[in-house]
Amino acid sequence: MNRNDIRNTLDEESVRLSKALGQNLLHDQNVLRRIAKAADLQEDDQVLEIGPGLGALTEHLLEAVNELTAIEKDQRLHKHLSKRFADQEKLRLIHHDALKYFENLEVDWTNWKLVSNLPYSVASPLLVDLAAMPKGPRRLVVTVQWEVGQRLNAQPSTRDYSKLTLLVGCRYQVKDIFKISPHCFFPEPRVDSACITLDQRTKPLFAEDLHKPFTSVVKRAFSQRRKMMRKNLKGGWPEEKLDAAMAAVNLDSKIRAEKVSMDQFVMLTKELHDG
Ligand code: SAM
Repeated sequence: MNRNDIRNTLDEESVRLSKALGQNLLHDQNVLRRIAKAADLQEDDQVLEIGPGLGALTEHLLEAVNELTAIEKDQRLHKHLSKRFADQEKLRLIHHDALKYFENLEVDWTNWKLVSNLPYSVASPLLVDLAAMPKGPRRLVVTVQWEVGQRLNAQPSTRDYSKLTLLVGCRYQVKDIFKISPHCFFPEPRVDSACITLDQRTKPLFAEDLHKPFTSVVKRAFSQRRKMMRKNLKGGWPEEKLDAAMAAVNLDSKIRAEKVSMDQFVMLTKELHDG
C-alpha cells in the first residue's frame, strides 16, 4: 500500500483519519519490510498486531506467518479490513480497544510476537500492560514516538530514564532500535518515530508475586521527579522500614529516583516487601 493507495482507499470509504486514534499510516514499503524483518518471523510464529489501520503492515505480516490476530478500535477501519482480507484465513480480526481487550484476559501469549505501529496516545500504557502480563508476548516490535523509544532505551541518570524505562524494562530488554522519518507516514506526524525491538528477559528479575510491589515502588519513586526518592516513598511504608531498606541497598537518603538502577529498584522492592 503506497501513499496513493491510502488516499484512494480513504476516499472510497469516506474515512477521515482521526488524530485522537493516532492514525498516522505507514506507506514506506522499505520501512514496513524492515519492521517485519525485525520480528524475525517464522512461518509457525503467532503474531499479534494492534491497530492494523488499512492493513499496510498486516499484508507484510501475512506474507510471513500462518496465524495473525489484529485488534482495531476504529469500526470504519475494521469494516474495511474485513472486506479487504475476507479470503484470508490466516487472519483473525478483532474489533476492540486493545487497552481493554487485555484486561482480565488470561491468555498465554508466550509463543506470540507483537508487531505494531502503535497509536501514539496509547503506546506507553499498552507497553506497560503488556509487560505486566505474567505470560506476555516473547518479542515486541513496536513503532512509537522517538521520545518514547528513547525512554524505553534509557540509562539511569539521564533525562529519559523514567517509570516507563523500568516498568517495561523489568520484563523486556531492548534488542534493536531504528529511526523512522515523518515522511514515511500519511499524514506526517510532527516528530520522528522509532521502531524498537524488545525481547522478553530469559531470566526474570523477580518472582511473579513481586511484580505488583515493584510497580508500586517505581510509580511512587517517580511521582515527583525533582524530589528526593525517600520523600516520594514515605507515604507508602513506615519510615523505619523505608530507611532500613534503603540502607540495605546502599542508597543515599537524598538520592533521586532517576539515579537508581533497575537492579537497585528490584533489591529495594525485595527489602520493602519481604524484609
Ligand atoms: N498499522 C497501520 C499502519 O502502520 O499503517 C496503522 C497504524 S496507526 C499509527 C494506529 C492504529 O491503531 C489506527 O488504525 C487506529 O485506529 C488504531 N487504534 C487506536 N487506538 C487503538 C486502541 N486503543 N486499540 C486498538 N487499535 C487502536
